[in-house]
Amino acid sequence: MDNKKKTFKKILKAIRDHETILIHGHVRPDGDCIGSQIGLKKLILANFPEKKVKVVGDVCEYCKFVGVPDGAEDEEYRGALSIVVDCGNAERISDQRYKFGDTLVKIDHHVEDTPYGDISYVEDSAGSCTQIITDFARQMKLMMTLDAAYPLYVGMVTDTGRFRFDSVTSTTFEDAAYLLSCGVNIEDVDNHLSVTTLKTLKLQGYVLSNFKATDNGYAYICMTQDIVKEYGVTNEEAANQVSTLAGIEGYPVWGLFMEYPDEIRIRIRSRGPEIKTLANKYNGGGHEKAAGAHLDNWEQLPDFLNDVDQLVKQYKDSLVKED
Ligand code: AMP
Repeated sequence: MDNKKKTFKKILKAIRDHETILIHGHVRPDGDCIGSQIGLKKLILANFPEKKVKVVGDVCEYCKFVGVPDGAEDEEYRGALSIVVDCGNAERISDQRYKFGDTLVKIDHHVEDTPYGDISYVEDSAGSCTQIITDFARQMKLMMTLDAAYPLYVGMVTDTGRFRFDSVTSTTFEDAAYLLSCGVNIEDVDNHLSVTTLKTLKLQGYVLSNFKATDNGYAYICMTQDIVKEYGVTNEEAANQVSTLAGIEGYPVWGLFMEYPDEIRIRIRSRGPEIKTLANKYNGGGHEKAAGAHLDNWEQLPDFLNDVDQLVKQYKDSLVKED
């Protein structure tokens, strides 16, 4: 039996052995995180209806249509199984009470810097965490219902940039096809994901007119609280504007600096060089081509810009050499 199957069996046993299961994700959850949390909850309930399963952590406004966390009382962690999905490092787990559980399972697809969990399954080549959960369900021959398949599919669609990123493989499509065979309606998912508010569209116009760029080709926008207020959007809607800067010729790396009261979060994206190492330098992490990091204040911005600009330069120089 391969390692994956062995670990999946251990996870299934942990689920069987616990009456209460609390499912956590990462702070500021995205579609893959909440899709994994809700999808796993529904999957467990479809197969073990007698269990108490709760999703704990922050709400994902953008994907509220797949569900919102239930929350949990402190006492519920006693003797419980905590499962953390889609979170590479323990500090980023939303609601640190996950530690109060009796056993901890980690299921993730981020590059692992600091391992955690009594049982851990990490597949960093997987395009989404929901793909791993789908694979788990299929390999363990669990019953998949539509209400589990729907959030799992949403996670797949959002974390693969709608099946456009290089993390997408034939297996991604096989798993997606399996979820569709359970009744997921593609058009319904797309209607939820594609419809945008007028405010967000206007903010997009602001981003396109005001983004800046470094000499070698890093395109970026500073999303200050003044702008967030002026356009009347939520922080999450503002932070999602990172994708507005994707695909500009000559700018293979782009990003958004999101101002919060106590920190500036950086969202970095690439269609060229590996950016996770840079993110690590600025207290972050993630994937090769989509990562997040932090600045303590705007004074640190020039250092970051210098580093990212050098990275883009090295990347462009390497392309010239290859030619
Ligand atoms: P984001 O820009 O928040 O969508 O993050 C891109 C990817 O990097 C996601 O997979 C995040 O989970 C991950 N990520 C973001 N911030 C951090 C961080 N501070 N540490 C580790 N991983 C992160």
